[in-house]
Amino acid sequence: MAARVIGSEHVTEASRRGRRMIEILPGDIVTASARDSAERLKIDLVDGPLKRPAVIETDGATAARRVLYRRNPKWTAPQPQASRSAARLTRLAIVGAGGVGMNVAHLAANADLAAEILLTDLVPGLAESIALDLNHASGITRSKSRVIGGTSLSLVADAQVVVVTAGRPRTPGMTRADLLQVNRRVIQSVAEALKTLAPHAVVVVVTNPLDEMTVEMLRATQFPRSRVLGMAGTLDSSRFRRSLAETAGLPVSDVEAMALGSHGDEMAPIVSRARIRGRPVTDYLNAEAIERCARDAVTGGGQVVALRKTGSASLAPAHAVVELIDHMRGARAGLVPVSVMMDGEYGISDVVLGVPCRLTMGGLAEVVEIPLLEAEQAQLQAAAEAIRARLG
Ligand code: NAD
Repeated sequence: MAARVIGSEHVTEASRRGRRMIEILPGDIVTASARDSAERLKIDLVDGPLKRPAVIETDGATAARRVLYRRNPKWTAPQPQASRSAARLTRLAIVGAGGVGMNVAHLAANADLAAEILLTDLVPGLAESIALDLNHASGITRSKSRVIGGTSLSLVADAQVVVVTAGRPRTPGMTRADLLQVNRRVIQSVAEALKTLAPHAVVVVVTNPLDEMTVEMLRATQFPRSRVLGMAGTLDSSRFRRSLAETAGLPVSDVEAMALGSHGDEMAPIVSRARIRGRPVTDYLNAEAIERCARDAVTGGGQVVALRKTGSASLAPAHAVVELIDHMRGARAGLVPVSVMMDGEYGISDVVLGVPCRLTMGGLAEVVEIPLLEAEQAQLQAAAEAIRARLG
């Protein structure tokens, strides 16, 4: 890499972002004014390349990759990689062909993730047109996935995985309680179809309000908790990681972090376990900057809505759905945050909450209790109480 000149403006910018250190690589030139500014602003100028971090927690595949990384002086966080044994789904059904549903279908078709992708929406022609459009793309992508669209819920028949994105968005004048009632009826009608047509499916609930709708799906289907998963944590964690990376001025591939709790104001971005290049985030960012990143994750969805005016985020949510499916089918390893019915884990029961999980093709394999700070454990408890209160 070419040598850089580190001037006082670099130090000022780092301080503005809440960074606590600047890594000085061999050959970099640090001006005298930069050194003065660093001293004044309490920014450490640390000789790099930084020492390799200790391995924190890992599965076999990640450990093996980290061993390989040790030979490379420039460390980056290992990426979850497709295992050779990743399963291909037979039938993936998506209920609701709006922004999220359409993009899930697109990503799934592009990744050739299932033999058949069934897309259904009550608006005549919508799912059919998207299916045709995606099938037209297969001449370029060479995807073997066949996409079928329609208005009938009978399309979910024998699906291995059913992603439920059907629902009404909140419109002006509509309270959260109104939305809950409207979307509850949507979930109930989908659940009726699932009970008879896809009784062995794993259901991934996306419809908001997420935590409440996941509870509703469990109640209405009577499926075991292992087969009703709420998607929120993968999206919220992605937003949290991006914000930490942006603030630290590093690629997001260097950041590992999870957001747990509820999908909303009681979200719990877990700072104590967050790592940048394998080191605690507090080595890189000060407390205010970390707090800003956590807020950024909580408000991420709202930021998109504010820009779009009509409609909400759909691209990142679709990736977040596919991340869950990839964990199920073995294309990704390790822990993933999922909203599941709690059964005593973290001292919490009888409410759906976002927690670190291991998934298999059968859905939830286990909820993993990672060590948390007392304050973080309290955040999880508070999220559980808030969701319980909303459910009434
Ligand atoms: P959208 O309005 O674009 O699409 C929803 C679709 O559902 C519409 O096409 C509508 O016709 C269809 N629909 C409604 N009732 C139906 C029914 N009974 N059967 C079949 N289809 C039906 O909304 P979107 O942007 O795709 O978002 C979908 C849902 O996901 C919303 O509730 C949204 O708030 C939620 N969401 C959740 C997350 C998360 O992290 N969990 C992220 C993004 C969006």
